[in-house]
Amino acid sequence: MNEHGNPQRAETDQARAESHVARYHRQIILPELGLAGQRALSASRVLVVGAGALGSAAALYLAAAGVGTIGIADGDRVDLSNLHRQVLHGTSDIGRLKTASAKDRLAALNPEVRVVEHVGYLNSDNVLDVMAGYDVIVDGSDSFAARYLVNDAAVLLAKPLVTAAILRFEGQLMVFRPGEGCYRCVFPEPPPAGTVPNCAEAGVLGAVAGVLGSTQAVEALKLMGRMGEPAVGRLGLYDAWRGRWQQVQVARDPACAVCGDHPTITGPIDYDAWCGVPAPAAGPGAPEVSVAEAERLMHQGVPFVDVRPEAEYARGHIPSAVLVGPDPSATQLPGTADAAVVCVCLQGVRSAAVAARLESQGRSAVSLAGGLLAWAQAGLPWEGQLPT
Ligand SMILES: [Zn+2]
Repeated sequence: MNEHGNPQRAETDQARAESHVARYHRQIILPELGLAGQRALSASRVLVVGAGALGSAAALYLAAAGVGTIGIADGDRVDLSNLHRQVLHGTSDIGRLKTASAKDRLAALNPEVRVVEHVGYLNSDNVLDVMAGYDVIVDGSDSFAARYLVNDAAVLLAKPLVTAAILRFEGQLMVFRPGEGCYRCVFPEPPPAGTVPNCAEAGVLGAVAGVLGSTQAVEALKLMGRMGEPAVGRLGLYDAWRGRWQQVQVARDPACAVCGDHPTITGPIDYDAWCGVPAPAAGPGAPEVSVAEAERLMHQGVPFVDVRPEAEYARGHIPSAVLVGPDPSATQLPGTADAAVVCVCLQGVRSAAVAARLESQGRSAVSLAGGLLAWAQAGLPWEGQLPT
């Protein structure tokens, strides 16, 4: 007999304990973690916002490491075009809710972990309730609206936040502990809708998300396992193209709207437009012209206006195109008020939104379909680095 008075149960408990130690052995033998750190991980609860590219890598490593509870918040379903970067999901998961697919995959990887599905998108009504149940927030969302919502809620609830973003060959990462600044201290306001390309427009290399999502898992594990130096006070910029990390010092801004000395944001905010996603104005009704038609307009002397930010324009542009930026006013545009303009951007999504807006303001404007990529691919006049 033993202390349980039940030999069978005692054997089961012992087998479970042995398997637990065996599973985490390679990290338990790290003296900086040890058994105490492993117990802290088992008792921890982490929320992964978004079961997309970043969330995939983060959630897999968090589950593998034995974090006790992992919440997954997402309202999307798995699509074939997700799979090159969202490695939580498989081909057979296409059409399923990402939270359900994630739960199955994480349970298969580590049945010791409790996975909680939060089906749907976080908004001002639910974000505080959902996030309140977790110790650390890992934000892998792919929109500015969600990023600001999650940041503000983390500040309001005094939760540590590990936030990251990816685009093309680049990624950025920041870690915030309560009282040490927030995303808004670095980027006070989201950019206007439609002015920032998203992955669907600009593309992304899937493995870049793996680097950033894994780094988010590392930072979250450090916070929960009470080890190492969290990457706070820095904006980490990963340049996959050149294989470099760059660190930029950041600090809490006493004038920050949410974590500053006199905050003006005291509750979560829903942004109307999901910035980083093509604005609704880019939908039906936005006038578009083909490359051939745009070339004909150029020969007729119709001015071209480039609606990208200055840095993008500086890298390369159509020689005669005038830089007007993402939010031009009618008076900034070349030509007379009744003259037409051709709006251009990299892929024709942002320019369609701007053209539609100018049209609604009474200025005749069209957008180059397929954008500068299509223009340059056709071998038409170009100055600077060719768009990719
Ligand atoms: Zn702040």
